[in-house]
Amino acid sequence: MTSQATDRVTDAAERLREGSQIVDLKDFSRADLRRLLKEAFNEPGFRGDQLFQWLYVHRAEAFDDMTNLSKSLRAKLQDKARISPLEFKDTHESPDGTTKLTFGCDGGGVVETVYIPAEGRNTLCISSQVGCALGCTFCYTAKMGLTRHLKTAEIVDQVVQARRLMTERNGHIGNIVFMGMGEPLHNVDNVINAIHVLLDEDGLNFSRRKITVSTSGMVPAIRRLGEETDVQLAISLNATTDKTRSEIMPINDRWGLDELMEALREFPLDNRERITFEYVLLKDVNDTLDDAQRIIDLTRDIPSKINLIPFNPHPRTPFKTPSEERMAAFTKYLSDRNVSVYRRRTRGQEEMAACGQLGKPGEKEPPHVRRKLAKFRDDQAANA
Ligand code: SAH
Ligand code: SF4
Repeated sequence: MTSQATDRVTDAAERLREGSQIVDLKDFSRADLRRLLKEAFNEPGFRGDQLFQWLYVHRAEAFDDMTNLSKSLRAKLQDKARISPLEFKDTHESPDGTTKLTFGCDGGGVVETVYIPAEGRNTLCISSQVGCALGCTFCYTAKMGLTRHLKTAEIVDQVVQARRLMTERNGHIGNIVFMGMGEPLHNVDNVINAIHVLLDEDGLNFSRRKITVSTSGMVPAIRRLGEETDVQLAISLNATTDKTRSEIMPINDRWGLDELMEALREFPLDNRERITFEYVLLKDVNDTLDDAQRIIDLTRDIPSKINLIPFNPHPRTPFKTPSEERMAAFTKYLSDRNVSVYRRRTRGQEEMAACGQLGKPGEKEPPHVRRKLAKFRDDQAANA
């Protein structure tokens, strides 16, 4: 356990005793909850386990439901602790069953979570931030800029509430992808804490094989994720030269392709599946067969698979989806060369629930996104 975790628990125990500020119970792992109740109220360790079970196995919504906790403990928690930091607002269901869930959070922001049904394999796509700071030019969320990081409890609660809202009608949710709003590795502390809660066998009990963190390539945090968790990693590659990648993903100016690929070659894979490379196909930007060949060259010595994602359009974007023939040729080029390549089906577009369509941008995008987009439009015009 890190000293940072120790401080977090001790701080929260003080708050529980003194009631200065509400404590979010879903911020804590099971071990932390045991300590929290011990430090705050001198309760034996197993009370923490019981509370953890109420939160994640029974998905309790009120302290009164927690019948094996004493009345006095329930009363103390009632005053000073919170079960759910997110307030469910509504659902938007696309004809293919993909359903966007929206939640209100502290400060007035909206958190979006997407439930994606599939035969025997329902997936929940969760958000790690309100908005995103990284400014990828093709991404709708980028246009919001970053409002704030989500807390651990706000990440975990998306899963608990989605299980409650969706499971009975639609079946078990067994897969989690951090591919909603935000860059998970920009909020790496909370994402790692949340992963530890999701994996606990006495709680939500997700398999490490069924949790995937997707990143645009924040290299130091990739290393931390590798050291501190054993979940799966997906990298949004999206371009095969530094020039193009920097044009569409500003983060590439900070960590270029060489540095990114080196970090991936060093990523501990012993306990993991392959690394997934996501590649959003953008018409006339990254969709040539030379690009396909460069994907092979870049990923050659990394156990990997490639997920091709047709660009999902959104309002006011200059980007287009390549033609079906072009995407098919791109896919075939890779599969003919024995690359594990998958074409991701576009899901939930009707409700703006597809990849890169989440969020509620204001009228104007943030300046860093506006500058990059203006340059892209100029280049398009010059090449026309
Ligand atoms: N910030 C993380 C995770 C959220 S984005 C990341 O970038 O990896 C999830 C995926 O959606 C990324 O692979 C991203 O490249 C892709 N994406 C963003 N906008 C898109 C769009 N308009 N159409 C298709 N995919 C998009
Ligand atoms: Fe952020 Fe990912 Fe969108 Fe880039 S693609 S702006 S990193 S959410």
